[in-house]
Amino acid sequence: MTDTNHPAGVLAPDGPPPVPEGASQADGGRAEADPGTAAWDVAAIRVQFPILSREVHGRPLVYLDSAASSQQPLRVLRRVARYEREQHANVHRGVHQLSTEATEAYEDARLAVATHAGAADPAEIVFTRGTTEAVNLVASSWGGAFIGADDDIVLTKMEHHSNLVPWQLLAARTGCRLHFVDVTADGTLDLDDLDRLLERRPRLVAFTHVSNSLGTINPVREIVSRAHAAGALALVDGAQAAPHLLTDVARLGCDFYAFSGHKMCGPTGVGALWARRELLEAMPPYQGGGEMISEVKLEGSSWAKVPHKFEAGTPNISGVVGFGEAARFLASLGREAIASHEGALTRYALERLGAIEGLRLFGPMRERTSVFSFTYGDVHPHDLSTILDQRGIAIRAGHHCNQPLMDHYDISGTARASLYVYSTAEEIDALCDGLAMAAEVFRGIS
Ligand code: PMP
Repeated sequence: MTDTNHPAGVLAPDGPPPVPEGASQADGGRAEADPGTAAWDVAAIRVQFPILSREVHGRPLVYLDSAASSQQPLRVLRRVARYEREQHANVHRGVHQLSTEATEAYEDARLAVATHAGAADPAEIVFTRGTTEAVNLVASSWGGAFIGADDDIVLTKMEHHSNLVPWQLLAARTGCRLHFVDVTADGTLDLDDLDRLLERRPRLVAFTHVSNSLGTINPVREIVSRAHAAGALALVDGAQAAPHLLTDVARLGCDFYAFSGHKMCGPTGVGALWARRELLEAMPPYQGGGEMISEVKLEGSSWAKVPHKFEAGTPNISGVVGFGEAARFLASLGREAIASHEGALTRYALERLGAIEGLRLFGPMRERTSVFSFTYGDVHPHDLSTILDQRGIAIRAGHHCNQPLMDHYDISGTARASLYVYSTAEEIDALCDGLAMAAEVFRGIS
């Protein structure tokens, strides 16, 4: 095993996934796991997600697209509604009661999100629109200030476009060179290739914690330590990890960690960048405007302290409040309990999908999360998705913002089913039944 900091969906051949080292400390004592929910009761969890009781095309919804966006529990919906109905005002500016309450709710969410990430200092959490904006912030601010034409940046061939295109833009601006760690046949990173690229002494290694197409859990601590040994900083795209794994940034050792609220039971349009404080302090502002200044004169301005220096303008207050509540919701389920529920479902899904003739599953069989990309005979993934949709089953189809990875496998896209805290074995059965029916349909027309 290369890295033990990723319990969810880790395929242990016998029995449940290992309990992660330091699991209990990930909550930092600030958002405690509820021991009452230690035994996983998926029915009790599902009733907290109103959308799961709706029908689609006259069938009960089978939602297998949580890697794109997860659903929101009542607790999050209610917290956002309470903010909107009772506490809405602008933050950090007013001295009146509503503004004070809104500011408290906003900063309280920062604490919950910091706790989720394992960050000791909430000031190291910058709220953004999501992972995409978090990576753009680093590329623009840190990259703009510290990267020049002679510099190298190492990415990987499994990056989501969000952790690729911002660096391409930086390369176009500065002339810096981008290099890409290769992906092995089973969908893991080729660490020998990483070592070769590190001989160039890059300034940054930016890579995903979990692949959104393959489910691969990358050995973050190992990659970070090799990057640091070569003198590089390490940025981790945590969009697909923060919802499922323990994301203890202190333990991972990275310098930047980006993640999104809408993949972890929170609202869309909100996410976070965690970065080491001294880096945030050294970086210039990303955008200028209100909220991010200390003093403004016509001749020039000085900046607010971190994290406010990076939060120009009126933020997505209700989104942030919902994000914080989502982090607390996940803590209340227990991050270890989430891991073991998803680990068991992952084993079941791999077994069932693996038994379907003509189905090609991508990604490793171990050290992976509950996202399953596959092709099925020569049926186009969009056709598969459309047929399954008729049965109320929501899966994703396409390149999943991973076009270079699809090129690597010489395919145009895959079908992708992904699970979360509310997913059940019956839903995996429904997917397999739907695939069997699709096979019949396509046999009929071919
Ligand atoms: N990175 C990965 C690995 C992702 O899966 C996603 C979302 N699909 C992103 C980045 C971008 O996240 P967002 O759209 O929330 O900014």
